[in-house]
Amino acid sequence: MEPVPYDKRNGKIWFNGQVIDWKDAKLHVLTHGLHYGSCVFEGERVYNGEIFKLREHTDRLIYSARRMGFEIPYTVDQIDEACNEIIKIQNVQNGYVRPVAWRGSEMMAISAQKNKIHFAIATWEWGSYFDPKIKEHGIKLNVSKWRRPAPNTIPWDTKAAGLYMICTLSKHEAEKDGFNDSLMLDHEDFVAEATGANIFFLNEETKEIHTPIPDCFLDGITRRTIIDIAKEKGFKIIERKIKLEELKNFEACFLTGTAAEVTPVSQIGDYSFKVTNSIGSFFDKYLEIVNRKVIA
Ligand code: PMP
Repeated sequence: MEPVPYDKRNGKIWFNGQVIDWKDAKLHVLTHGLHYGSCVFEGERVYNGEIFKLREHTDRLIYSARRMGFEIPYTVDQIDEACNEIIKIQNVQNGYVRPVAWRGSEMMAISAQKNKIHFAIATWEWGSYFDPKIKEHGIKLNVSKWRRPAPNTIPWDTKAAGLYMICTLSKHEAEKDGFNDSLMLDHEDFVAEATGANIFFLNEETKEIHTPIPDCFLDGITRRTIIDIAKEKGFKIIERKIKLEELKNFEACFLTGTAAEVTPVSQIGDYSFKVTNSIGSFFDKYLEIVNRKVIA
């Protein structure tokens, strides 16, 4: 059976300060955010009825909007409260939260000085981002022909909708060729990240983890959590510029992200990796932390 499209579901959506019917959460075709990419969003996970690191996500959302030159017309506290309100109304226990802010329709050209800023939050029950069966044995990535743009070409450290244009192109290309996702290099051909997750490489014997410096892509909230976990487990974290040819020197590889959580990688182009025990132990610890928050 085909899944129900996202605009045809039942429930409620928080929309410009009100809780409205899911099906009524619409916007006009002449919306600046749609035509010119003046839109920012967040991706949050709910574990046992609580949003993990909600404040960090809300701070990042507000930061993303400011980097795009607009102010979301709600405070951090109001946004946190609205996220919590809508997961309760929707009764989401283990799922996803998508706050999104965009410029409206008052002006319809490049300039959008007078456009109203809209803000909505949708949430739904949601499982694994990658198929759990595939995830167990590691996912396969191709190497994208698209590059993460140079930091002076785009607000790179945000979750601005426009940044995802090349991610969808990369992911579609990967899926067409039988891969699960795509590794993106940066504008200088160094390893950057996957289309919606950060990347790590490790060697069990040396207890070293190498990961790219987030200087032209998102420094994920999960990335930072996993770095702390790995350090606690005695791993040395080395953030540096990594060339594609160097991947042959690593035993294992994994992705991190709110959606991807901790996902082992078995292949990137011609390079193969093992799914090692440490990756499992990082994920176990991550799950413990996200759940413990609720119990504590
Ligand atoms: N990079 C990109 C492009 C992403 O979309 C995400 C998901 N938000 C990440 C990295 C990981 O970020 P986080 O751990 O904060 O979800």
